[in-house]
Amino acid sequence: MKTVVSGIRPTGQIHLGNYFGALQNFVKMQHEARCFFFIADYHSLTTHPDPANLHGNVEGALVQYLAAGLDPDVATIYVQSDVPQVTELSLLLSMHAYIGELERTASFKEKIRKHPENINAGLLCYPVLMAADILLHRADFVPVGKDQEQHLEMTRRFARRFNQIYGVEYLPESEAYNFGAELTKVPGLDGNGKMGKSEGNGIYLADNDEVIRKKVMKAVTDSGPTEPNQPMAEPIANLFAVMKIISPGETYDFFLEKYNACEVRYGDMKKQLAEDMIAVIAPIRARMEAISADRAYLRKVLTQGAEKARASADETLRNVREIMGIKPF
Ligand code: ATP
Ligand code: MG
Repeated sequence: MKTVVSGIRPTGQIHLGNYFGALQNFVKMQHEARCFFFIADYHSLTTHPDPANLHGNVEGALVQYLAAGLDPDVATIYVQSDVPQVTELSLLLSMHAYIGELERTASFKEKIRKHPENINAGLLCYPVLMAADILLHRADFVPVGKDQEQHLEMTRRFARRFNQIYGVEYLPESEAYNFGAELTKVPGLDGNGKMGKSEGNGIYLADNDEVIRKKVMKAVTDSGPTEPNQPMAEPIANLFAVMKIISPGETYDFFLEKYNACEVRYGDMKKQLAEDMIAVIAPIRARMEAISADRAYLRKVLTQGAEKARASADETLRNVREIMGIKPF
């Protein structure tokens, strides 16, 4: 049986990018593999969340995992910091991670550009901790969105290097996974870039129908094409990209044909897109309400998840320590 690992940072509400890039695939994969899905609270510390919000965000992520359909009796669901073994593996892996390659990571360079006031070592070492998350359970597959592709390459590089240095075949070369298709990128509806928690442009699983309609109707568009088959400006291409992911194929084809014939009405397109989003989100939101009320259940899920994740982590660490020459007396 293959092993699958992935996580989401509790940096805010889970949005449609997280859902279509990651969470939906977690749910699909849970019955076919040995799955570990965690809430990456250590990772969220790189951007200094307010301690008053962190716990609530972890709980929110858990509720949303469960409401989206993850089954804790099938998949192992845990909070990253409940399995502190990951920090030891991260330390051990960091001995073979070079500063140069960490500094060249695209996400690190982008963080420097956007937040020059907060360039901390945790941010620099993010790809190492992420490799530790994945290699802790020796994952074959990692369901993630397009934005994580480079981090996965780094994870593979660290694993390969470890095996080479110690002359072993122990750490796997974990692959980013989307059922054989390209990794998903859900763009934001604000003109450019991805939908993201940090970008503040999310359409959230917790949003009610009216909020969803308002957000979609505000999506950036232009005055429309003037020539048949005109190349799309980025905001329009994004609107179509979102529709392609969320709406039925015939809906997408219909609006694309209209666009190519210079007859598209963006207002109609947005209305349809909002209804198609509501069809995905509303049932999840309804389940969220019921699940979040049952605190004893949430506690039980995490206790059981942490236990299973620790057992798997202990086994990996025992082997990695021994391979590196750290042996019990
Ligand atoms: P943050 O801004 O705090 O980094 P985020 O929105 O990027 O938040 P993450 O928690 O970093 O979300 O990512 C969780 C998962 O969701 C990852 O697998 C990531 O690839 C995926 N993901 C995030 N945004 C998108 C998106 N717009 N499209 C597809 N997948 C996405
Ligand atoms: Mg992110």
